[in-house]
Amino acid sequence: MNHHITLLSLLLASNIMFGQSFVSITIDDVPNTIKYQKDNFESKLMNRLDTLKIPVTVFVNESLLNKGASFDKNHELLEKWEKRDYVTIGNHTFGHSRYSDVGYDLFVSDIEKGEMLSKVLVDKYSKKLEYFRFPYNDLGKDSIEHSKIDSYLVSKGYISTPFTIESSDWMYNTVYENYLANKEFDKAAKIGRNYIDKTIEYFEFYDSISTQIYNRKIKHIYLCHDNSINADYLPLLVDYFAKQNYTFISLQDALTDSVYHQNDKYYKKWGISWLYRWMNSQKEISSSMKNEPNMEILESQFKNMQENSNKKTGY
Ligand SMILES: [Zn+2]
Repeated sequence: MNHHITLLSLLLASNIMFGQSFVSITIDDVPNTIKYQKDNFESKLMNRLDTLKIPVTVFVNESLLNKGASFDKNHELLEKWEKRDYVTIGNHTFGHSRYSDVGYDLFVSDIEKGEMLSKVLVDKYSKKLEYFRFPYNDLGKDSIEHSKIDSYLVSKGYISTPFTIESSDWMYNTVYENYLANKEFDKAAKIGRNYIDKTIEYFEFYDSISTQIYNRKIKHIYLCHDNSINADYLPLLVDYFAKQNYTFISLQDALTDSVYHQNDKYYKKWGISWLYRWMNSQKEISSSMKNEPNMEILESQFKNMQENSNKKTGY
């Protein structure tokens, strides 16, 4: 009997340590129309994803279609995303407004304005528009704001989309694009490699938190953006994680994991991982955050770059 128990616990332990991992890739601030125009009306990120054959969910800001020279071209880009059978479309508001800043009424109208074109396209391609992601993952500044918008989303049939892992890809991208613009290609490539390394660290960090709390591997959701650094480096990340026994799953599949059935207990406006939001106290959150990968180098590069660009523009 004891032997059986030992064998069973060994099997369970090995399943936790060496078992399959799951992650769903979600991409915000789609479509990147400025980059599309610069790249001769090609989306490099989409071209790369076409070859990867993994499911992704993209969160759209329809206001991005008004940027650049041609609304029609931009609309074509949105439609290209929609057309792909590996792509699920989500609403990310029209203008990327911050809920705790603009308040309930303006935020709701930004959500509704943000679904106008997407709704037509999802119908055309027999898909659904059921996922919503808050810009900045700002769910409101207090519990009243949180529950008000939550009821609204439920009434509209929207699923509020969490994430468990992010790695500040937007900040890496700012530094990366800056180097590319200055034709400092070696430095840009170094940032690209740093982005890969740090993202791996973040995956390991958040996975260790979830394994500690839930005693098993959960289905993760990675948040990143439609930008240059992902166009160039997301395929390398996908390749790396595939070798680490990760399976790339749809958002719908990820959300079947019971971790996502828990209540969010975090009533502030900051865009932190849902692994923190499910914790019981601020103390618990703070002590876990202390062990996050160190981002000092990137943060100082980002700050220097911002100061330099302010000097140039005279601010
Ligand atoms: Zn966003």
